[in-house]
Amino acid sequence: MALTKEQIRQIAEQTKNSLERGGCCVSGATQCLFDDVNDAIDTAIRAQQRLAEMTLEDRSKLVEAMRVCAREHAEELAILAHDETGYGKVQHKIAKNLLAANKTPGVEDLHPTAYSGDDGLTLVETAPYGVIGSITPSTNPTATVINNSISMIAAGNAVVYNPHPAAKRASQRAMELLNQAIVDAGGPNGLITAPKEPTMETSSVIMSHKAIKMLAVTGGEAVVAVAMKSGKKCVAAGPGNPPVIVDETANIPDAAKKIVDGASFENNILCVAEKECFMVSSIADELMSQMQQNGAFRVYGEDIDKIVRTVLVQKDGKYVINRKFVGHDATYILRESGVQFTGDPVLVIAEVDRYHPFVEVEMLMPVLGCVRVASFDEALDEAFRAEHGCQHSALIHSTNVHNMSRAARRMNTTIFVKNAPSYSGLGFGGEGYTTLTIATPTGEGLTSAKCFTRTSRYVHKGDVRISCAYGAEESRL
Ligand code: NAD
Repeated sequence: MALTKEQIRQIAEQTKNSLERGGCCVSGATQCLFDDVNDAIDTAIRAQQRLAEMTLEDRSKLVEAMRVCAREHAEELAILAHDETGYGKVQHKIAKNLLAANKTPGVEDLHPTAYSGDDGLTLVETAPYGVIGSITPSTNPTATVINNSISMIAAGNAVVYNPHPAAKRASQRAMELLNQAIVDAGGPNGLITAPKEPTMETSSVIMSHKAIKMLAVTGGEAVVAVAMKSGKKCVAAGPGNPPVIVDETANIPDAAKKIVDGASFENNILCVAEKECFMVSSIADELMSQMQQNGAFRVYGEDIDKIVRTVLVQKDGKYVINRKFVGHDATYILRESGVQFTGDPVLVIAEVDRYHPFVEVEMLMPVLGCVRVASFDEALDEAFRAEHGCQHSALIHSTNVHNMSRAARRMNTTIFVKNAPSYSGLGFGGEGYTTLTIATPTGEGLTSAKCFTRTSRYVHKGDVRISCAYGAEESRL
């Protein structure tokens, strides 16, 4: 269902008014946003203590209530996030919110392990950390809150968020709705809290507070570096620069369509999205031509330079993105760059050299640098270099199993996708659960409830073990 611009404007306006009136921030006994970040933390501590007294079945009910709430408000939250940040596309944001609501694992993700032997029984269980501090990005401001809240609360924790200031309204609305849903389902108020005005200072209070036992940060290099210096257990989901390789054995029309679909989804703000393409020269022209037939607009020569000058800025001798263009439509980027174009392209493609900024920089916008290489071996070398050691995500289009396996081994990324758009790596049209917090620097990978638990070992000597020393025949005698 496509929404008209007027419908989008009206829903955004209604939500904004609701938030300005207090929204469901303070509804009866529920409150999740606080003037003082310390009050947000204290409330979360008390809520977690109450959660600890509830059964696993109760906890499952709270998770289910969050899922239902997130589904019901997927569209409202998508519109709000788009309205506030200007990033991506409403329909894609709805899809991300629904994905987080439906495919984030719940309590079932926690598996006890039992060891039974002559010395008795030992049980290894997953225990909550307590209160987790979560820093969320502007690129997935509501889907990350839905995903993190389900994962962390399913694991028995409370969460204090410090959302990105540029997306705080959307993130906070998601928190309020989920917190209210928990209370309505019989859970404690304050399992989800946040400061009303998230800043670097509130982030620093959360990161250094004694009662916050674990941090989860989702964002760029800077926040990952800060969190990893905090001295706390940290789940860090950092940046990527995912390359896609297309070799001469690929089904080229299929590869072209899937690359355009993946690289244009949400105007390329997903950390897993195709950010540069390495094409074996024998199929390069056909690949780019097929991409053009699937919604890409190809730019050449001076037009490439115009886009570079518009969407990138030089800082300390390096190119960095101009935030004004992050997550914006390809047509907006072309227009602002002064490039003539026809139709309604969803992606800009440019054949560039391997060291071009469209290859080197995590663009976070629908501009894809395409590099022609002589062979699969060269494509793999260049893809490895362009990924900058993030070990985040990489893709290949090929029908050569040997090439696929070599690429997967060499790239050694947390997500490796073959013959599909990048978002299938998040479980969107691909098998497996989803997350919006892909922890590469700290190694948890696609996070789920179990990543937000400590393991505890309970050792029972003797008595508890029930196995008998007799065989079946003897025991009947
Ligand atoms: P960002 O780094 O600008 O902000 C992320 C969060 O970190 C925000 O809440 C921000 O306020 C906070 N922050 C930034 N610098 C900080 C500092 N010095 N100290 C404390 N907090 C700080 O990121 P963004 O633009 O919102 O999101 C895009 C980036 O995040 C991209 O690099 C993308 O690859 C990455 N990302 C990664 C994942 C993943 O799962 N690995 C998911 C989404 C986004």
